[in-house]
Amino acid sequence: MKNIKIAVDGFSSCGKSTLAKQLAAHFGFVFIDSGAMYRAVTLFAIENNIISEDDVVDINKLKKEIKNIKITFQTIDGKNHTFLNGKDVETEIRQIRVSKRVSIIATLDFVREEMVNLQRNLSEENSVIMDGRDIGTVVFPNAELKLFVTATPEVRAQRRYDELKAKGEDVNFDEIKANLINRDRIDSTREIAPLKQADDAVVLDNSNMTREQQFDFAVKLIEKILA
Ligand code: C5P
Repeated sequence: MKNIKIAVDGFSSCGKSTLAKQLAAHFGFVFIDSGAMYRAVTLFAIENNIISEDDVVDINKLKKEIKNIKITFQTIDGKNHTFLNGKDVETEIRQIRVSKRVSIIATLDFVREEMVNLQRNLSEENSVIMDGRDIGTVVFPNAELKLFVTATPEVRAQRRYDELKAKGEDVNFDEIKANLINRDRIDSTREIAPLKQADDAVVLDNSNMTREQQFDFAVKLIEKILA
């Protein structure tokens, strides 16, 4: 069977990763969380004083360091974990201090270039489901299926709030909602690889759908491709 690529793009916190993980497990494809890569670079920038408290980025320092940022993934107890230079950072990269700055780091051309190379390298020999913002438009413009996932900001903020709360994080609903609206704005208006629906993408608005319903919707589309 030929390797296929499935792109799952869309707004922040609309369940892209959840859906992509479920589909990958169901079809035996590799799941790749491209957002985790931008988050890991952001964490590196925070830890190495490359981005200041008021969000000023030391571009030259990050340019110098970018080749030294090694991002890898491992499955531990069935869950996807992101490693930054050998350290498991899966929990840290989801913290609000990272969410608040990641979209700024993701506007940088040299960061995107490195991440897109990594995304394509990891996908070379496998059928892959990748979630992100520019997967259908830039990373895999010839993907066999492109899903564009969306939901209302209220629904998305509630889901992210519940998720972080369940992990024991001290979170504030309004802060989360403001963060995702702000990230959507920066992601959609940046010059390089902005978040936008590919012309040939299938839109999936899951505001009023359960996880099972959106899963069934996507499974049917993938089964058609595989038939
Ligand atoms: O998917 P997630 O919410 O974890 O992504 C975090 C951020 O990383 C996004 O808000 C966006 O700024 C950036 N990103 C990106 N391109 C991707 C995936 C994520 O710019 N393909």
